[in-house]
Amino acid sequence: MSVTKPVLFVSDLHLAAVRPQIYETFLRFLREEARQAATLYILGDLVEYWVGDEDADEDFNRGIVAAISELSQSGVPVYLMHGNRDFLIGRKAAKKAGLQLLADPTLIDLFGQRTLLMHGDTLCTDDLAYMKARSRWRRPLILRAFLALPLALRRHIGAKLRATSERTKRDTAPELMDVSLAEVERVLRANAYPRLIHGHTHRPARHVHNLDGSECERWVLGDWYKRGSYLRCDPNGCQSIDLG
Ligand code: MN
Repeated sequence: MSVTKPVLFVSDLHLAAVRPQIYETFLRFLREEARQAATLYILGDLVEYWVGDEDADEDFNRGIVAAISELSQSGVPVYLMHGNRDFLIGRKAAKKAGLQLLADPTLIDLFGQRTLLMHGDTLCTDDLAYMKARSRWRRPLILRAFLALPLALRRHIGAKLRATSERTKRDTAPELMDVSLAEVERVLRANAYPRLIHGHTHRPARHVHNLDGSECERWVLGDWYKRGSYLRCDPNGCQSIDLG
């Protein structure tokens, strides 16, 4: 009997040296569950911050890069879609880690079912301030100018931006930080009613959208702040699994 290997999805790990336990959980996940998978998709916010591909050589990140590279060399393709924390992971670092970069959104065939993958931040259109800042930061000219700054200055700016973002999160109404239902429905319609998998909101759940006579499943991946979790999909469907 042939056994179909599952496809795994994770997001919002926010790996950082201040959370060594989660780092260990992730390394174990790469060595165990992910090693048995057909493919691993990382849908954004793998690390808490990344200010340029020099970060691949930083002590903490070196372990992450090596562990992902080991997995991809074992024959499991690993894809990374940028999140809002790690969108500066570039081709150089991706190559070092054996990661293939994915555009946001990307439509895949998941065991015969069309499935749309997103990080999820672009679905939060009610948070106008965030959307504005996001589009400013993704301008190629601004990115190039930022990446041309000395590494120490980029780290300093990055830390300031993170502090501002933490303050803003505390002051923003929770419903503004969730996805906009209208935007979810727009995206589902525009992609001919696929299944949708995304992260970013840190509100893991399975939603079902009944839209124009079609039923669309939407999986929201969990964050890795307190524990790890992943979505495991096989020909029978998907299920969310918690890691210790
Ligand atoms: Mn995010």
